[in-house]
Amino acid sequence: TLSDRLSTVFTSLRGKGRLSQSDIDATAREIRVSLLEADVALPVVKAFVGAVKERASAVEVSQALNPAQQIIKIVNEELVKILGGETRRLVFAKNPPTVIMLAGLQGAGKTTLAGKLARWLREQGHTPLLVACDLQRPNAVTQLQVVGEQAGVSVFAPEPGNGVGDPVGVARAGIAEARGKHFDIVIVDTAGRLGVDTEMMAQAAAIRDATSPDEVLFVLDAMVGQDAVTTAEAFRDGVGFTGVVLTKLDGDARGGAALSVRHVTGAPIMFASTGEKLNEFDIFHPDRMASRILGMGDMMTLIEQAEQVFEADQAEAMAGKMAGGDFTLEDFLDQMLSIRKMGPIAGILGMLPGAGQMKEQLANVDDRDIDRTAAIIRSMTPQERHDPKIINASRRQRIAKGSGSTVAQVNALVDRFFEARKMMAAMAGKFGLGALARGKS
Ligand code: GDP
Ligand code: MG
Repeated sequence: TLSDRLSTVFTSLRGKGRLSQSDIDATAREIRVSLLEADVALPVVKAFVGAVKERASAVEVSQALNPAQQIIKIVNEELVKILGGETRRLVFAKNPPTVIMLAGLQGAGKTTLAGKLARWLREQGHTPLLVACDLQRPNAVTQLQVVGEQAGVSVFAPEPGNGVGDPVGVARAGIAEARGKHFDIVIVDTAGRLGVDTEMMAQAAAIRDATSPDEVLFVLDAMVGQDAVTTAEAFRDGVGFTGVVLTKLDGDARGGAALSVRHVTGAPIMFASTGEKLNEFDIFHPDRMASRILGMGDMMTLIEQAEQVFEADQAEAMAGKMAGGDFTLEDFLDQMLSIRKMGPIAGILGMLPGAGQMKEQLANVDDRDIDRTAAIIRSMTPQERHDPKIINASRRQRIAKGSGSTVAQVNALVDRFFEARKMMAAMAGKFGLGALARGKS
């Protein structure tokens, strides 16, 4: 499967410390083959691989992620992008009923979807009416009636034995029925053929013209391979659609249809059907589909963790400075300023057991206090900031003048700094910096 192929690609990158251009090229080739084997349409493959390659080459050397993780992250983000990014919601008519028309090949899952959608909408407080416009197959109407009953919604169907084979007439009558009886949504089930043919397209277009739908959903069996694109294009040109529904995603879908259809038609994938039962249905989530294709939900979690650990590493470096006594007034200033945005010091203290008291003290520092501290420290020479011990009486006077504060305030700051440094060194010594260290990947 696509997941298997891709994870092989990523595994081969795992040991690398850095990615060379030839690593990137080789990886791009592998991804290309994997996608083609998964029946992703060629133009889509080209666009996708191009984007991944470009981003992989331009990638800044991340200190948080190793090369394999970086590539996976890029591939994942590009997959989400090609699957449509954000999910689009249904558009409802200003004046009900909202008309949703379903189109697609026979067996794609339209009638089943009609039931699923109706049930889903009913649960959200809507009152949908199903309209049976597939008069092609003998049992199509009955099938919709069964599905409607399961979904707990009404079904509008032509009188049996009436001899009328006019789906456009049924569609019109169905909408009139909905208007009269105050159904707020009409879902129009239509006929499909096994393959695309002009008569079917003409019928679908006629139903469309008669009902002026707010949404035309193209229903696509995700298990069909390369044909997905041809079929989608035929429906786009013959009927036009506003959204796509992928069905049978529970099967051994190779992902090709999902990846191709959005890119080729420009229409968003809105829903996903994952089984025969009416509740096996959901809004389509590009990010979930992407991690499904990558087959590595866990990997994405790991990547997020790696990025977090990196932040912890930075905090740890700061803690190391403190323990080593290299903590300068400049660091102190940095920390003071970062308190406002709940910066590293709070994080570091959070990692040290028993540091609650000091955290509280720091939390009580107010903004004016921080501003004054900043002004005082900025009035010091770099030498003074790095080696505060040299700040004697005459220097204090100069600093006070320069920062518009009193000598007493400068004294208080310098005292507080030495106090803080002592406390930090003591804490770091007591609890051991080892306890701060998180495993680096
Ligand atoms: P239509 O011809 O487009 O109306 O397709 P149907 O709704 O009649 O579905 C054709 C067959 O596919 C039926 O046997 C359905 O039970 C089945 N089916 C529909 N959607 C799904 C799905 O998401 N997963 C699975 N496994 N089967 C589905
Ligand atoms: Mg049907």
